[in-house]
Amino acid sequence: MSEGGEDVPHLERGDLPPAIRVAPPGPEARRLSTRLGAAEAPGINTLAGDEPSLLWAEALGANVLDVDGNRYVDLTAGFGVAAVGHRHPRVVEAVRRQAGRLLHALGDVHAHPARVELAERLAARVPVAGAREEAVAVHPAISGSDAVEVAVKTALLASGRTTVLAFAPSYHGTTLGALALTARDAFRRPFADHLHPHVRRLPFAAPEAEVEAALADGHVACAVVEPIVGREGVLVPPAGWLAALAAACQRSGTLLVADEVFTGFGRTGCWFAVEHDGVRPDLVACGKALGGGLPIAAVVGRRGLMDAWATGGEALHTATFVANPLACAAALAVLDVLEEEALVQRAAVLGERLGERLAGWPERFAAVEAVRGRGALWGVELATKEAAYGLVDGARARGVLLLAGGPEGRVAQLVPPLTITDEQLETALDVLEEVLAGP
Ligand code: PMP
Repeated sequence: MSEGGEDVPHLERGDLPPAIRVAPPGPEARRLSTRLGAAEAPGINTLAGDEPSLLWAEALGANVLDVDGNRYVDLTAGFGVAAVGHRHPRVVEAVRRQAGRLLHALGDVHAHPARVELAERLAARVPVAGAREEAVAVHPAISGSDAVEVAVKTALLASGRTTVLAFAPSYHGTTLGALALTARDAFRRPFADHLHPHVRRLPFAAPEAEVEAALADGHVACAVVEPIVGREGVLVPPAGWLAALAAACQRSGTLLVADEVFTGFGRTGCWFAVEHDGVRPDLVACGKALGGGLPIAAVVGRRGLMDAWATGGEALHTATFVANPLACAAALAVLDVLEEEALVQRAAVLGERLGERLAGWPERFAAVEAVRGRGALWGVELATKEAAYGLVDGARARGVLLLAGGPEGRVAQLVPPLTITDEQLETALDVLEEVLAGP
């Protein structure tokens, strides 16, 4: 038996409150964690200090069911992936239909119909510079990190320049190219010798004059920015900063790459977070929510930039699983659901509610230093890492899942599926307040 006891219930719906049957992680989670710890490389799943992990048996809507039958309200959306909710029926149906026809094609050699449609839909949806004057093209990718690699390679190819401007804090992935841009020292240090040195780094939301100076010599191919810093602390730049960055890029002939891997597809109350500032980047990297749970990512830019990839021969950046048919079919369903269920607008409404509920926290709770966010992406900054993990653990014990991030691990992230019900959200926030209030 691999998935919990026989008496573990199924999730019949995804709009339910938490229900804890046994203190998590329960016995089945502990048993499987031990096996996982023995079979997998350390550090990939088991938590710090060899604490057992939770294991998910099912997820639906905004609910997760663990292998011990505990039901949670999910404020992680699975790292922001489940924007349309876990296992949305439309996504499941699209995957099932696709699975009946074609699971895998031939990457950059032979494509398949769902990939054609997805490229067209993304080209029409993603806000990139030059889209009004010329066609837009899509470069598929496997993951968020891969999309960042593609975006930077596009900029290097198209510009002939050598250097990249990145910000701190930031998270762009852990493959060596993307890691060179990711700011967190703990991720970088062990591989420092292999991180290319052609990166200039400024503080996130650095003054315009500093941005200007960093770009002045004309060597910077692209500036890579998260329009709202996600897992590294949920930082919303001051109004106008992204637009000023875009303008400075334009003046110096630097391409602007928006890493919308976390923020894209409605998370912040707009389809893409750059839209809050009226910015159209040259290249947009996206992933996570796009696949509704299947791994897929993409970079979108105007045709004139993407033409830099034309070799007349073999693809310069490809991968065996690129534009996987199941993932493309799932992504098409995600785009339909976001539109038909008006989930981008729903994210904005969630943002208002979250903003109202969280606003008083720094005054009410001694451990809370600040709250900030937009749409369905909020950060609660706590005084210490211990306080943040205390909140995460206390919430988990009461049936609410959330993660802590930020450079010092002090920022609890509230990232619900956009389909979370009002009742689920209120209940989850009640739980967090209970934990913050202490025993
Ligand atoms: N960019 C951003 C902004 C991200 O949040 C992440 C993942 N958290 C990535 C890139 C990397 O994506 P992936 O984990 O799919 O490689």
